Amino acid sequence: MVETYKAFIGGEWVDGAGGGAFPVYNPATDEIFAQVATCTPEDVDKAVKAAAAAAPAWGMMPMSARAKMLLKVSQLIMQNLNEIAALETAEHGAPIRNSAGFQVPQIADFFEYAASISRSLTGETLPIGPWCTSMTVREPVGVVGLITPWNVPALMVAWKLAAALVTGNACIVKPASVTPLTTLRLAALCKEAGIPDGAVNVITGPGSTVGEALVAHPGVARIGFTGDTSTGKRIMSLASGLAKPVGLELGGKNAMLVLSDADLEAAVEGAIWGGFFNNGQVCAAASRILVHESLYDEFLQRFVEAAKQIRVGDPMNPETVLGPVPFKEHRDKVESYIASAKAEGAKLVLGGERPTTPETQKGYYLAPTIFADAQNSMTFMQEEIFGPVVGVATFKDDAEAVALANDTSYGLSASVWTKDFKRGLGLARQLQVGTVWLNEHLMIFCEAPWGGCKASGYGKDLSTMVLEEYTTVKHIYMDMNEGPVKPWYGLMK
Ligand code: NAD
Repeated sequence: MVETYKAFIGGEWVDGAGGGAFPVYNPATDEIFAQVATCTPEDVDKAVKAAAAAAPAWGMMPMSARAKMLLKVSQLIMQNLNEIAALETAEHGAPIRNSAGFQVPQIADFFEYAASISRSLTGETLPIGPWCTSMTVREPVGVVGLITPWNVPALMVAWKLAAALVTGNACIVKPASVTPLTTLRLAALCKEAGIPDGAVNVITGPGSTVGEALVAHPGVARIGFTGDTSTGKRIMSLASGLAKPVGLELGGKNAMLVLSDADLEAAVEGAIWGGFFNNGQVCAAASRILVHESLYDEFLQRFVEAAKQIRVGDPMNPETVLGPVPFKEHRDKVESYIASAKAEGAKLVLGGERPTTPETQKGYYLAPTIFADAQNSMTFMQEEIFGPVVGVATFKDDAEAVALANDTSYGLSASVWTKDFKRGLGLARQLQVGTVWLNEHLMIFCEAPWGGCKASGYGKDLSTMVLEEYTTVKHIYMDMNEGPVKPWYGLMK
């Protein structure tokens, strides 16, 4: 049965102003299973008005009251875990072991975390002089637009939404059109938790129309964006016309450095996890694996053997490790990178084609793919593929490993695999990225800041630093002197 979903504006479920709808496909079956309202710039305007009406009261509420509502959202997410996980698996193709096992619990956990850190948000008293009191206060930004991608859809919304809400902002979320359903479900839970109408709005539809209208709307004070670097650049240029601040969490081309003294077994396991988790559709995926020449042959042989064991299939089967990619055009894009890697001379040692099992024939499946003898200059080693495709290259010494790792326009994350922490830390300090893991990859925690440098963007999600993204600092100065005693008097007479 094809279900119909509406947009969420001012606490109401509404059709788009144009009355249209767009389909959502189940990527495991290539069947349409939902229709979602296509919003227009007119709906964006309605959402901005609803958010602006809600913002003053929501922003003035005691922090503890907002935090309690977020805790309630967290509880509701856990109570509805199986349903939300099944929805994510249906719209995205994420294996149910991931969506139910940790992606949805992580969403609940982040709402809980945001509630807890908000209550320690403080200002400062400044030591200017005994005649005055001078202090800073943090205030909500106002109405914020949150534009999110399809790769871990509800979690990417939660990181921004929970932080922006708890600090007193009214939010308009624009989820990716491929995966809007879990975001709409999250909005329903926010309403159920008592968050007032207008504080959470979800507009659905194309980025090129409603996304741009949201960025360009003068009533939106800030944009939080996660997505592709090219979209981030477009958003930045649109926002610049209004001098509107934007936070950008963009793409990555992350290196995993396996040093000469690495624990080979751990590194192979780390490469399987870092390279293929979620089909490599992770901004921090270990898509470039750089291995010291003394370990290269053994690493490659063990990595290929381990990758052959990955079960690709029906994402609703709890045994499945990799499901389909979320949409047909994305599979085409990944396949074009596989073709370019072959054409540029990388050696295909695994995959490179669609799986042949009966259960994978209808959906958008791809086999885990490994290229050996990759050169860092090859297109597939420079551009973000966002698929289950990994390139393995070799290096002679640590200095060359760092140079290769930094030889990319991106700067999101990297990992270093070594038994010598002093050596690893030395390399960590030279890598031009926002996060470095030693003997790990793809470990993201609420407590640690997340965000990149270079073409991977700027600003931080997660940790207490995210509170700074969604608040502004106001300085208040009070002259305590009685009578005409001002520091500037002499200058004016
Ligand atoms: P995308 O840029 O195509 O889309 C992201 C969102 O932007 C969607 O909601 C889309 O509809 C909207 N959008 C598209 N064009 C727009 C425009 N002109 N104006 C306003 N909004 C517009 O990205 P995607 O394909 O959905 O996601 C994959 C990308 O996200 C990858 O590059 C990945 O690395 C990145 N990502 C980064 C992080 C991070 O934390 N750095 C996390 C997850 C994903």
